[in-house]
Amino acid sequence: MASHHHADIVILGAGIAGLWLHARLRSQGYNALLLETHAVGGGQSIASQGIIHSGLKYAFAGKVNKLAKSISAMPDRWRACLNGTGELDLSATDVSTQSQILMIPSGLMGGLVKLVTKKVLGGQVREIPKSEWPNDIVRSGFKGQLVYMDEPVLNVPSLVRALCTPYHDSIRRIEWDDVSFDGKDLHIGKHTITADHFIFTAAGNNHAIATSLGHDTGLKTQARPLRMGMLRPAPFALYAHLVGQSDKPVATITTHKDKDGTLVWYLGGGVAERAKESDPLEVYKSTIKGLTKYLPKLDLSNVQWNSLPIDRFEGKSDKEGWMPDTPVIHSHGTYHYCWPTKLTFSPLLADKVFAFIGKPSSKQANWNFLEKAPYASAVWDKDDDWTNTAAG
Ligand SMILES: Cc1cc2nc3c(=O)[nH]c(=O)nc-3n(C[C@H](O)[C@H](O)[C@H](O)COP(=O)(O)OP(=O)(O)OC[C@H]3O[C@@H](n4cnc5c(N)ncnc54)[C@H](O)[C@@H]3O)c2cc1C
Repeated sequence: MASHHHADIVILGAGIAGLWLHARLRSQGYNALLLETHAVGGGQSIASQGIIHSGLKYAFAGKVNKLAKSISAMPDRWRACLNGTGELDLSATDVSTQSQILMIPSGLMGGLVKLVTKKVLGGQVREIPKSEWPNDIVRSGFKGQLVYMDEPVLNVPSLVRALCTPYHDSIRRIEWDDVSFDGKDLHIGKHTITADHFIFTAAGNNHAIATSLGHDTGLKTQARPLRMGMLRPAPFALYAHLVGQSDKPVATITTHKDKDGTLVWYLGGGVAERAKESDPLEVYKSTIKGLTKYLPKLDLSNVQWNSLPIDRFEGKSDKEGWMPDTPVIHSHGTYHYCWPTKLTFSPLLADKVFAFIGKPSSKQANWNFLEKAPYASAVWDKDDDWTNTAAG
């Protein structure tokens, strides 16, 4: 039966951007609806490394720029939420680690480390004296400097649940083929939904939707490809950026537990910055070669290997190969297309949205005519593509 409904705000896309915004809107009494075509947390967010960046990585790359500065306030803001005292209660999120390390090989940068860290981010970073190095790193044969970074790493599947659970009643799954817009309202099959604002947080699909609705004048976006590596069992829990000579880390390693409790190293940074269609064996070989230079005593010959081709979708940056400095919103009337740029920036994206929406209406709605959206699984729990590297 045809039905008609009203929401203050309809959001399309339940990655971190949509989830964060939806939770903030609901927590402030808005009648918000979040629609997802696949699974909650399902795109880049569930595939991310879960690092809440402070900007130090970018400062080391010589980019003591707007990006490093705008991002430096983020860890504190997230920590307040993780402690249950911030704008959202994310105390149900598992924090994998409270801090990370920069591993700077001997001879590289030297005193610059202290200079840059002091200049940009004050007391948030400090060199770790050799006497305090973790045993696993000593045993790995690493030679150089370790710098402590005040950047938490989150277990993203648990973050997704923490954002979703209190408000799951207004997070619903749709088939995109059933959806149409008539310039004002949204139609899902026989159901019509009016809203004060439609917010698109559909990442890679945002641009195509804006184009199909004639909203793309002046819209510029970019997709930066990655082929992320995964290896298991990981030798030990490590959360580190391996600093090299270019403006990006040679590798960024985070550690996660798969569904059987086995430790997985998830490898981003330079080793992952390559075409998505790269040969997985080549990715494996060059990643291991890169890791071995930093951690020469580790035996990685018997690990299982997997790799994930994925794009990062953002507003277009002026600087080739780089991301924009802040979240990006492209508006056309009451239609708004949003990219957080980083998971870390989702709170800022929500701030930007709050700046243009009105007050919440007193109306509430029941969205039970749409099915509840399921959760996405962690990328390392998709078993199909794991290979035994020892077997070649
Ligand atoms: C491998 C990788 C690692 C990263 N690591 C980090 C990190 O450690 N720290 C950090 O700060 N950032 C990181 N990032 C960046 C960060 O993950 C992204 O900026 C962020 O997750 C983007 O969130 P999003 O909600 O815009 O997009 P997504 O998470 O991609 O979500 C978009 C959602 O929209 C849905 N959708 C698509 N089309 C439609 C439609 N028509 N209608 C409704 N729903 C639709 C999709 O199914 C998906 O669920 C990483 C990115 C990648 C790819």
